[in-house]
Amino acid sequence: MSANGHGADPFARAAAIVAHDADLVGDAVVPPIVQTSLFTFASVAEMTATFAGETARPVYSRGLNPTVRAFEEKVAALECAEDALAFASGMAAISSAVLGFVKPGDRIVSVTHVYPDAFRLFETMLKRFGVATQYLDPADDEALAASLPGAAVLYLESPNSWMMEAHALAPLAALAKRHGVVTIVDNSCATPLFQQPHRLGCDLVVHSASKYLGGHSDTVAGVVAGSATQIGRLRDEVLPYLGSKLSAFEAWLLLRGLRTLPQRMAAHQATALTLAERLAEHPAVSAVHHPELRRSLPPGLAGTSGLFSAELSEAVDIAGFCEGLKLFRLGVSWGGHESLVVPALVTHAQAGGPNPARVFGVPRRMVRLHAGLEGVELLWSDLARSLERSTRRTQHDAEDDIAHRRAGRGADRHRIGTDA
Ligand SMILES: *Cc1c(COP(=O)(O)O)cnc(C)c1O
Repeated sequence: MSANGHGADPFARAAAIVAHDADLVGDAVVPPIVQTSLFTFASVAEMTATFAGETARPVYSRGLNPTVRAFEEKVAALECAEDALAFASGMAAISSAVLGFVKPGDRIVSVTHVYPDAFRLFETMLKRFGVATQYLDPADDEALAASLPGAAVLYLESPNSWMMEAHALAPLAALAKRHGVVTIVDNSCATPLFQQPHRLGCDLVVHSASKYLGGHSDTVAGVVAGSATQIGRLRDEVLPYLGSKLSAFEAWLLLRGLRTLPQRMAAHQATALTLAERLAEHPAVSAVHHPELRRSLPPGLAGTSGLFSAELSEAVDIAGFCEGLKLFRLGVSWGGHESLVVPALVTHAQAGGPNPARVFGVPRRMVRLHAGLEGVELLWSDLARSLERSTRRTQHDAEDDIAHRRAGRGADRHRIGTDA
């Protein structure tokens, strides 16, 4: 089977792509960091042929750099796409993909609960350029059928931010195609290990490579994968002018991160699912949002990540819970080795532009969790202990404590662990 075969086990297929590089300069086993702005020519004839498009070779690192190209080729192979183009961030990938396919007067149809800065891009900058955006739940067939005729772009994110809703992409892409609508999908959460939207009929796949593709929380980067024609359009008409290119060093970090994508995702998936299942049974948790919890994954999605969210009951002091965690640290982003937590109350309070947490109604008592690679039992004791400590005790418990104190005994039975 070729490394690009479709039917095989996704782990074996991805591993074959990320494990090897052939024919590297000096027989190196890892692509070198080609840290140069420009590339020189031996003759005017060679320079002319390159400018005329007769030979493809690097000219200037804003357009093409060999280290960046090695990363793009790996992502294209992982996504079962003809080509890919790297960007300085996930948002650069998203804005470039969208700007490549809209003009004034156009309309975007977007899934609700999109990544907050994608929402702000649509609601501020694109609005100023005369592009309107309409939001819907793609599970609402009627709304979808009514909105697609005349739209320019269908913008999807699956699973989506905070709510972790996952959609079957193939029927959505087919419907969009019938109306001549370009489908763009944010695949950062599922990664190409578990979902290849282009293979499912979607036109362009965007990633925040800052998350799982890099996987080590040490770089901000983005990439778009798709057909040679559509990626060519972004390469020729968007990247050179917006100039949001990826650096060679960051491409090298991403190539390094990609080597272990299958192994990391297997660990994130197993850990997060176990934590989500246990939290769902916890009396202080009112709901858990995970794409695979008590439901089956939509066709085309073969696995899940370390990301999920939980709604905490009224009895829990949410700030106390987040601050009481030792392994889950307070911080944005996700996709690295470390576990992270963000409470929705922070995003509800966010100033500076339209607020998607409020517009889409992210539950205020929600926390988003990213399960890192620390190990499931350590992470579970961290969550369980902090939940216990941050949950307001019942009136009965409080009276009990007072009675104990009066009797001269300590009332510390609610504490667990040794570092109190
Ligand atoms: C982080 C993120 C982005 C933005 O990526 P950056 O690399 O931070 O610019 C886009 N989409 C999703 C789903 C994300 O989580």
